[in-house]
Amino acid sequence: VNIFHRESKCKIRVGTSPDFPPFEYIDDKGNIVGIDIDMMKILSNKIGCDMEIVSIDFNGLIPALINNQIDVIASGMTITEERAKVVAFTKPYWSADQAIVIRKDANINPQSLNDLVNLRVGVQSGTTAEQMISEFVSSTGKNINMVSYQSYVLAIQDLLAGRLDAVVVDSPVANMFVKQYNVKISNIITTNESYGLAVRKDNTELLNKLNKALDEFLNSDEWQQILRKYLG
Ligand code: GLN
Repeated sequence: VNIFHRESKCKIRVGTSPDFPPFEYIDDKGNIVGIDIDMMKILSNKIGCDMEIVSIDFNGLIPALINNQIDVIASGMTITEERAKVVAFTKPYWSADQAIVIRKDANINPQSLNDLVNLRVGVQSGTTAEQMISEFVSSTGKNINMVSYQSYVLAIQDLLAGRLDAVVVDSPVANMFVKQYNVKISNIITTNESYGLAVRKDNTELLNKLNKALDEFLNSDEWQQILRKYLG
């Protein structure tokens, strides 16, 4: 957040990777919409700032934040110890697990990471799904043919085209993909992830303001309305 001349309001630059419905995606009109976007509009307003959405691939969000190209990451980002070494997270606003997504007509039924051994599995680059599979492979010495995509939407397209056997993605997003595409969830891997907003480590002023605004927001009717709007 910057301090300004009399007429200009402060502006919060919000980085997001719009391939993660219902949190952020591109609608029929080409606009970036979703739970994170509506939430950030309200939080920015509470803080007294305007906001600007900046679209960045998921694996570029933390570098963009650190390089001061954006002020906040709002992108269904899981709070992890590793990330918390380089960015500061707000309190959590959502929880999720990982889902194994397969084609509706698939003749496989993977229930666990072990069931994905030797299969072609798509993830989005820089995600906790990618990290979980990498750790499974290195700790067990087993093989998963993991393919990392710039976006989950591309991974789902490759799944539908038969170039992948499964996609591993956050459970709330998997539920949306099931509504939108000819895919199903074969099982959920419990990971107990929590989503937070991220700011630069030295930006404690913005962190405190966001946390205060989040407290109010998460107990408000506005929040319930947003959830109804995107989740039905
Ligand atoms: N929650 C997952 C993570 O933080 C995936 C986020 C995403 O792909 N937008 O890695």
